[in-house]
Amino acid sequence: MLKITNPATGKVIAEVLEDNAASIRRKYQLARAAQPLWAATALSKRLACIRKFREQIESRKEELAAILTSEVGKPLQQSRNELNGLLGRIDFFLAETKKTLKTRKVFDQDGMREQIGHEPLGVVANISAWNYPYFVGANVFVPALLAGNAVLYKPSEFATRTGLEIAEMLYESGIPPAIFATVIGAGPAGAALLKQPVDGLFFTGSVATGKAIARALAGRLVKLQLELGGKDPVYVCNDVDVVAAAAGLADGAMYNTGQSCCSVERIYVHASIFDSFVDAFVREVKGFRIGDPTAEGTYIGPLTRAPQARVLEAQIADAKKKGAKVLTGGKRRKVPKLNGVWFEPTVLVGVNHSMAVMRDESFGPIIGIQPVQDDAEAVALMNDTAYGLTAGVYTKDAERAEKLLAQVHAGSVYWNCCDRVSPRLPWSGVGDSGIGLTLSTYGIETFTRPKAWHLRSA
Ligand code: NAD
Repeated sequence: MLKITNPATGKVIAEVLEDNAASIRRKYQLARAAQPLWAATALSKRLACIRKFREQIESRKEELAAILTSEVGKPLQQSRNELNGLLGRIDFFLAETKKTLKTRKVFDQDGMREQIGHEPLGVVANISAWNYPYFVGANVFVPALLAGNAVLYKPSEFATRTGLEIAEMLYESGIPPAIFATVIGAGPAGAALLKQPVDGLFFTGSVATGKAIARALAGRLVKLQLELGGKDPVYVCNDVDVVAAAAGLADGAMYNTGQSCCSVERIYVHASIFDSFVDAFVREVKGFRIGDPTAEGTYIGPLTRAPQARVLEAQIADAKKKGAKVLTGGKRRKVPKLNGVWFEPTVLVGVNHSMAVMRDESFGPIIGIQPVQDDAEAVALMNDTAYGLTAGVYTKDAERAEKLLAQVHAGSVYWNCCDRVSPRLPWSGVGDSGIGLTLSTYGIETFTRPKAWHLRSA
């Protein structure tokens, strides 16, 4: 049995039956057998199922938010925000799938017609992370199901109840259990799922697991997408409204207790405004309420995975040893009557790229802020990373922003905003942040293979 622990209380709140190699094999076989019928079902019917799924999420939002908070420790309002964001993503897929998957005539002359069709991949595996389980799951399974695929969905072992709720709501909405099957368990369940001859593997999670999966699939010709971690930088230019930029970036660094793939993880500030920016940033961070994630107004919840505290402590110790200074935070915090592990939102200055805190993903509420002399130095430091998920620039000057953002290596770039995902834009990474993409119309097409039709009428 898989034990589900509430990260705030430290108590086991549920025990769930885990899948094993045999049950995963069986689910794969059922999915394989059922998928052609699902692909042959009219798209309007598949859309109707997802529309019903959306209605269920909307009507059960409070209950679903409470479940999410109980297993990942996300502050309740942030759980609600995730569900609201999910509705927007589903709306995008509902609006765009028909147009995107329509067969496109690209040539028609002298009795010769050429057209591009879209066929589902077949049976796809969706291995998911815990930090935004609704977002990262739905980015895959909603368009994959709409495109006619069967999905073997493995929620993170730290977001299992949410995964099971998703499955129940999909079944209630008319999706057959063989077409959307859950694979419950931790890493070994994921590894067993990889052994099935699936037609696509869509993974969201850490770089280490992503690379292990790529190695496991290396000998097979399977479509593979990996959405991995980041060390996302932002450059604050000398012409900004310092207080507004500090407020936006403090939220970008600490929201979801810093456990977002696109959290702001490094900030470079023009030396001429460095001190005033840092003052405003620290003031903002000190205002964040730490505590029980079920209490309204809590902004910083417990770490979802307690061992991550050791990673944060090691990064802080390494930085301090090399000369950095902690301006606020820097340690664990006890919350009365709760046994979880909280980490104080932490701001470090005196940092440089010899320190792990400026190079390795922190995935927690800590941030290093470093001064730069000019735009060229900022670009060089932003690009001095193995990752490339997002990067941002804060400035009043649109031209300067465009010039800077054109030079940074990242899948998404932001001007005067951060920690933002849009269903209308592709979500992808450079380097260790991954391969492939979700969202946008490309993120619908990606669950299909294009078929080239050469049609001569005589
Ligand atoms: P993780 O790599 O520990 O786990 C992800 C999933 O992989 C889980 O379901 C886990 O059970 C499974 N898994 C573990 N070992 C496996 C194996 N050997 N074979 C198959 N499956 C296996 O990651 P996590 O802690 O759940 O997520 C946090 C990471 O995800 C962070 O690095 C974060 O940046 C990243 N992330 C990226 C995005 C993005 O869009 N780029 C979004 C969310 C999270």
